[in-house]
Amino acid sequence: MKFSTLVDYLAQLEATSKRLEMTRILGELFKHADADDIAAIVYLTQERLAPNYEAIEFGMGEALIAQAVTLATGVPLADVKKLYKERGDYGNVAEELSRAKSKKLQVDQVFEKLREIATTSGEGTVEKRVNLLADMLKACSPREARYLLRVPMGRLRLGVGDVTVLDGLSWSETGDKSLRPDLERAYNITSDLGLVAETFKRSGFKGLSKLKIAVGRPIRMELAERAKSAQEIIDRMGECALEPKVDGFRVQAHKDGEKVRLFSRNLEETTEMFPDVADAVRAQLEAKRAIIEGEAIAFDPETGDFRPFQETIQRKRKYGIDEMKETLPLKLLAFDVLWIDGEDVTGVGYKERHERLGELIAEGPGIQLIEQIYVNEPKAIDEFFMTKVEAGLEGIMAKRLDSKYVAGARNFNWMKFKRAYQGHLRDTMDLVVVGYLRGRGQRARFGIGALLCAVYDKKNDRFRTVAKVGSGLTEMEWLEYRNKLDAIALDHPHARVDSKMTPDVWVEPKYVMEVQADEITRSPIHTAGAKGDDPGYALRFPRVTNPNRIDKSPEDATTEHEIISMFEKQSRSEVKG
Ligand code: AMP
Repeated sequence: MKFSTLVDYLAQLEATSKRLEMTRILGELFKHADADDIAAIVYLTQERLAPNYEAIEFGMGEALIAQAVTLATGVPLADVKKLYKERGDYGNVAEELSRAKSKKLQVDQVFEKLREIATTSGEGTVEKRVNLLADMLKACSPREARYLLRVPMGRLRLGVGDVTVLDGLSWSETGDKSLRPDLERAYNITSDLGLVAETFKRSGFKGLSKLKIAVGRPIRMELAERAKSAQEIIDRMGECALEPKVDGFRVQAHKDGEKVRLFSRNLEETTEMFPDVADAVRAQLEAKRAIIEGEAIAFDPETGDFRPFQETIQRKRKYGIDEMKETLPLKLLAFDVLWIDGEDVTGVGYKERHERLGELIAEGPGIQLIEQIYVNEPKAIDEFFMTKVEAGLEGIMAKRLDSKYVAGARNFNWMKFKRAYQGHLRDTMDLVVVGYLRGRGQRARFGIGALLCAVYDKKNDRFRTVAKVGSGLTEMEWLEYRNKLDAIALDHPHARVDSKMTPDVWVEPKYVMEVQADEITRSPIHTAGAKGDDPGYALRFPRVTNPNRIDKSPEDATTEHEIISMFEKQSRSEVKG
């Protein structure tokens, strides 16, 4: 496909904020794409050069982009920078300054060159990158230049989420969303939208079922539903397994001989951050190749006691890792196995998976099979729960004995029963920031007084507002938030945000924060849970308890569905008194 054709579609996508319209445009784009190009097209529309789990960065900031524009157009650097100050976007700057007419560039050439820019290393990297980008700019028409630069700058901001891409693929074949379940399944086990698109294009939806779990490529993780009482767990599951709910980092570990890769809950690679866990996987997993999951938690090397989340989170860093690994080592509490030496065991019942997991783990300090008991009555659940809460843990996890591992799903196969659910609403929620208000009084001097926050509506892949949060942050944190948000500010609501309230500044849904509230109430001003004329739901007295849930992506936020069920549970417990 010609790059100019892709640019036509990008312009159309940019012009709409309606999801259905976006799906249709993507559908057209995918229909016209060749199988050889479609993966690149999918990645580019998401401002990426590889699947999300591959941390390939473009490696070009504003300064280098400015140099490339100068080199390509001959306009002095100072003038380029001046124009950027006025326009605020290097895409527009390049468009205005570019004089080329050619529309010869092909999508695959652009993609390969961008990858070359990103993967260049060693001596003279900076110069090579600038030259490569300048050469491409010279071959671009003004409009192509605009979109070309927006990709590495992360400024396409089309609002095309993963689910919209899947719907677009379905649309390209059928004109509707009917193939989404098949596409979603393929995506859940491969986590690679480009691969799904290419497979679908080459061999239709039948080809999707041939996509398999592969070691080294993360699987989207299974999640848990909430339980309000021990009785509810037994009602839903009957006899079940209980495990402690440990508050650390979810780890999916892939062992392929000596090569180990670790992935976080939002599928970022964390191997370099947690070398101690990687070593333990290498040493203690008794299979040549395997994929297991567990929770990594820091422990005190002196006493062996587990550390609270606030300390464990200190291991999430890029520097000083060697030192940290000595003072705050991690232990992996393994709770599941997905794949053993070529055998996909996700279809095997949980009880058997757990037994097989136990056989895989050799003695050693780094990995330990998580504690587990079987119960068949509420009293036993309450007892286990109480002992874990007294030991300082978050609560417990109940698991259905015959359940498969369903990639990417949140369902009642796993139920979390947390301390906070006892009685009133003390549980926290993870909300996505979608805008901010400048505020009055004291905080007006920072220019930020409250954050407009949303929950995730999975079905429609959008974010719906549930609270205006104005407390719980320190002055420093407010300032930090202001800077972070200004960098992703928009002059209109983001395409995936559904809000009745208009903040002073809209932002891209990107940051997730943990919030606590007293109560959930019905509210006409928020859109979460609103249906037709029925009001939505809002949080009463919300306050931030953790400003940076960096381990969660916006799609991992508390869902609209969860808010509604928390509201219903809260109402029921009020009736009971
Ligand atoms: P939440 O983040 O509250 O939805 O809880 C789900 C998370 O709990 C998982 O993603 C894991 O990181 C963590 N977790 C802790 N202990 C367990 C366990 N025994 N089984 C599964 N997940 C666990």
